[in-house]
Amino acid sequence: MTFACRSCSGTRLSPVIDLGRTPLANALLRADQLDVPEPRYPLNTVMCEECSLVQITETVPPETLFSDYVYFSSFSETVVTSAKALAERLARERGLSASSLVMEAASNDGYLLQHYQALGVPVLGVEPAANIAAEANKRGIPTRCAFFGRAEAQRLAAEGQCDVFHANNVLAHVADLNGFVAGIKTVLKPGGVASIEAPYLRDLIEKVEFDTIYHEHLCYFSATALDRLLARHELVLAGIERIPIHGGSLRIFAAHAGTPQSAAVKDILREEAALGLTRPRYYADFAARVMKLRDDLLSLLRKLKAEGRSLAAYGASAKGATLLNYFGIDGSLLDFVADRSTVKQGKFTPGSHLPIVPPEELAARKPDYVLLLTWNFATEILAQQQPFRDAGGKFILPVPEVRVV
Ligand code: ZN
Repeated sequence: MTFACRSCSGTRLSPVIDLGRTPLANALLRADQLDVPEPRYPLNTVMCEECSLVQITETVPPETLFSDYVYFSSFSETVVTSAKALAERLARERGLSASSLVMEAASNDGYLLQHYQALGVPVLGVEPAANIAAEANKRGIPTRCAFFGRAEAQRLAAEGQCDVFHANNVLAHVADLNGFVAGIKTVLKPGGVASIEAPYLRDLIEKVEFDTIYHEHLCYFSATALDRLLARHELVLAGIERIPIHGGSLRIFAAHAGTPQSAAVKDILREEAALGLTRPRYYADFAARVMKLRDDLLSLLRKLKAEGRSLAAYGASAKGATLLNYFGIDGSLLDFVADRSTVKQGKFTPGSHLPIVPPEELAARKPDYVLLLTWNFATEILAQQQPFRDAGGKFILPVPEVRVV
């Protein structure tokens, strides 16, 4: 069967990068699973020449991807701080009160909605991972365990539409992209606004953030692709901001048809056309730039290893899994990976099989160099690890170019 674009169903697709067959990036292993062959899935990225959406061609069933989802937003200070600022700003700008409603799709443990609740604004989370939805409810954030989409939106709207709808880092994950956006149209009050955050394709390409490509991320958005997707559902790309989170993201504001587009939206759409994001040529040298990064990083790690240095990694993240697997880095180069998440500790990274240990192990085992796999939280992690660095420990940042700090 020919692959059809997830947004416009177009079939004229051009290659961006093919990362081969890899295990699922969040499929951490227990010790007793290390000898069992891991399921691998194709990770091929293409661009739709009709609507310019960049996407992967494989859809792993969400049940497989999310059943034991291990990323808790609240574990990252950067995410929580940014969520608080956004909630306070929208509550003020939109004049939200006790009679308003804020919804969030993929609301996680309530990391964002908790800030509206603190302001007295009613909230409702929709979170597909059962363990995380339960955690949110336990924390007092009303949360339904469901996948947000066309059908769930009908049920939600029947009970009451929302003034503000949030979808942070979820749009890229949904297999039924059009159903999700149609759902936003359904749950949004007239005059309501949907705030959507997604990693920005332009940052991915310019900063060689190829490791943000993994099976959970089906789509990689430009403003152009979003504009066309929203318009199909009688929504307007009304506002847009570039924000630094996750290596560079877009925060867009969608509203019902008839709402004017801001000057910033018009500027970014013009910029993307001028840069060529809408044409295959823009992506032509991306794979070669990733190979250059691989050569640079591998030669550095091998050189340090040959000099007798001890090497480890920080951040058992999904992007780390992509990088380790595509670059072929495993226990022959790195001794372990440190991570703050207690859910991950004691497990092993998919494919590369590195043991995951608490960050305290850095101070205890004193590796000479630590490869920072969660480079999107570099500022936060480097600050947390200041004592380790003061004691002589060095970090290696892998993108956009290999750097030792
Ligand atoms: Zn398309």
